[in-house]
Amino acid sequence: MSTRRPTEPYPRQPYRADSDGRHDIAIANCEECGDEFDLTASDPRTQVCAPCWDRSLDAIETAFLDNYAKFGAKAHRTVAEALFRSQALADPDDRKVIGMRIVEEYLNAAQDLMALYVALRRRHEQPLLTTFTNFELNAPSVAAFRILTSGRSADDLLRDLQLPTLADVDAARGEIPRKDWRQFAGAVLTISNGIERVQKVDQGVLLELADGLKQSSALTHKMDWLPDRAMNPDQVALVVLNQRRRVLLTHALAIHEPQLEVFIDAIDKITGAARDLIWLYLHVRDTIALDDPQPGTT
Ligand SMILES: [Zn+2]
Repeated sequence: MSTRRPTEPYPRQPYRADSDGRHDIAIANCEECGDEFDLTASDPRTQVCAPCWDRSLDAIETAFLDNYAKFGAKAHRTVAEALFRSQALADPDDRKVIGMRIVEEYLNAAQDLMALYVALRRRHEQPLLTTFTNFELNAPSVAAFRILTSGRSADDLLRDLQLPTLADVDAARGEIPRKDWRQFAGAVLTISNGIERVQKVDQGVLLELADGLKQSSALTHKMDWLPDRAMNPDQVALVVLNQRRRVLLTHALAIHEPQLEVFIDAIDKITGAARDLIWLYLHVRDTIALDDPQPGTT
């Protein structure tokens, strides 16, 4: 028998084109504007310069947000509710798996709303899409979000996002249609409720679980096969092997129907907040654009 080790089917390190040694050509011409740009810090296949790239992201911002509000945000709720309905007919072990997936949808929805908030807040510094799609739910990002939002009133949150507050809209109540005022007031309430639910993400094992889910999808319903571990019969656990620390981590979660209902309700509030935050931002931006024509266009 050959003593050669079998060929590794997957690279041990993720492929990182950006750091694949030195590039032969470090300067390229942008396909959009024709300007030269430095390739040394980018993938050698990059075709556009950084300013053109940012402009192209800004150009699709409205369509992206509109699509996300109508489809992406709702997707978390659709999946969680379908899972919850299927739970009733499932056997106890399957119920645990389904329960874990519902919690996963809560974490996904929470990540999206935090990402949206931070992206709106930084919209004058970098394209909204860049912040939104690069946002990661982890202990530092959740702690930073908590500092930004904890204990803040709805108006504080809106001010932080440089959006009109409820007080601003109340002051203009006589000038805006009643329907618009009601929609605005409703959106403000939905946004602050959703943000309140997102803040609960750092409770219990949720944050550790979010981290573990990025590394492993191995679930177990018992731990008697693991030395010095135990779990309750109503729990499900995620098994994560941390190769660097040479430890095996387990994140156990109790799955009860009333608790899952709390998660379903939270997903509903969080996705509603994302939808209304987008509506508010796009609505305000369009209104301001109508009120303040570009210089030279009047
Ligand atoms: Zn360019």
